[in-house]
Amino acid sequence: MMETKSNDIISIIPKPIKVDVKQGIFTLNNNTVILTVPDLKKQAEYLKNLMAPATGLELDIEDLSKKDGNINTIILNIEENEKVFNPEGYKLEVSQGGIEILGSTPQGVFYGIHTLRQLFPVEIESSSKIDMEWSIPCTSIEDSPRFFWRGFMLDESRHFFGKDIVKKMLDVMASLKFNVFHWHLTDDQGWRIEIKKYPLLTEIGSKRKGTINSRKKLDGIPISGYYTQEEIREIIGYAAERFITIIPEIDVPGHVKAALAAYPELSCKGGSFEVCTHFGILEDVLCIGKEKVFDFIQDVLNEVMEIFPSEIIHIGGDEVPRTRWKECSDCQARINKEGLESEVDLQVYFTNRIANFLTSQGRRLMGWNEILNKNLVKNAICQYWENNLNEVLEHIKNNRNTVISERVALYLNYRYDLIPLNKTYKYDPIPEELDIKFHKNIFGIEACVWTEHITNIKELEWRIFPRLLAVAETGWTPKNKKDFQSFLTRLDSYLQRLALQKINFATKDEFRKYEKTL
Ligand SMILES: [Zn+2]
Repeated sequence: MMETKSNDIISIIPKPIKVDVKQGIFTLNNNTVILTVPDLKKQAEYLKNLMAPATGLELDIEDLSKKDGNINTIILNIEENEKVFNPEGYKLEVSQGGIEILGSTPQGVFYGIHTLRQLFPVEIESSSKIDMEWSIPCTSIEDSPRFFWRGFMLDESRHFFGKDIVKKMLDVMASLKFNVFHWHLTDDQGWRIEIKKYPLLTEIGSKRKGTINSRKKLDGIPISGYYTQEEIREIIGYAAERFITIIPEIDVPGHVKAALAAYPELSCKGGSFEVCTHFGILEDVLCIGKEKVFDFIQDVLNEVMEIFPSEIIHIGGDEVPRTRWKECSDCQARINKEGLESEVDLQVYFTNRIANFLTSQGRRLMGWNEILNKNLVKNAICQYWENNLNEVLEHIKNNRNTVISERVALYLNYRYDLIPLNKTYKYDPIPEELDIKFHKNIFGIEACVWTEHITNIKELEWRIFPRLLAVAETGWTPKNKKDFQSFLTRLDSYLQRLALQKINFATKDEFRKYEKTL
């Protein structure tokens, strides 16, 4: 019966592991004080700033050691007993006299703060002051994530959204307890990151003259934009305050038309290239035979590693046609010299060489599942998106690591008729046939948004929400605690929260229309 009562009152996404609702309420007021320890000063500030706009309260922050019988306190504290806590886990205790959030790390406490946020009425999301009573039910919550990789990927090559939109996404990711932002910064249709040694990458590669529309005509609407290294550092800092690691993707050796437009000598044949105005798989890729191509990639990655502290660097590796390599004397010479069997091996040679370079710099390579091969270096992380699940399962059974982004459930750019909400929700990243002893090799789950046909923020948000909430729950909540009907009930209040944050989303009528019995 307790469970039913909890479900009625408590509406949290992703669903916590253990919720126990008790008698009584806690009410935030003028006298409420945040008490904390030096290690949690930033999280205390974050909580204060979260509460201020809607409540109009400027909560005082004081040192926990000064606690002397205060009532109406919010205590944030570190409890370092790892037997009790997952590093991302927390305990949240709400009683009439006060609130306590405990974690073994600041990250755990941060997630406790976001759960607390959802205990408050939805109006807490308002950006202007609302006169109402800020009460929440007395509750005991214990919580920790199922996976340590809960990711979201945004493609800014095809369309560029810019700093403010990325920060808005990072804010909502944090509130849903995501911890990885995978940033797809380069592709055929645009190069979006400043590289000081190769200024033409952005001078030429960040601009295209238009996009081929559905009637196969160039629309003539120029698309451009890129991030300076300074702006990227600012965004990385913003993400870090929200415990989100940013993983940059520099897609090579395919999807490089924008780079070739700037530096055509990196191709097999040379010549003249334009930043691509249509979408698909292009035959012009980097030449694997020329040493200067490896110099180029290492120079680019050196600058990328200067900026991004992430251990993992994504190099794409998807959708690479071998047509040009077959006809290129340099590529054929490489095949002979390295004793490779075919052009397939040429990509493995390429990936391994980049992987070894990254390893020598204390980093680790990640790529889409096309990089898989029996000769691939062991520490490479595979991101599964489509087709070769059996090959991916072999990789996992060889104790190698994978992140799951199954296209038919987790590509949020698809319309709701192709991927209805319940399909995303019910998808589980652990394949049923996989023996439990290999489960640890799956780091977690990542939703992706490719933006070929997404030109503005309203459309972007409409595709992402509410399906990203379903991915958040799969990444965090144990499989046996998930339930679609319960999710839909909790979603009602979360959609109100999104509306108050001025985030667009598909309405219940829009996303339920396409649900089929799965
Ligand atoms: Zn070549």
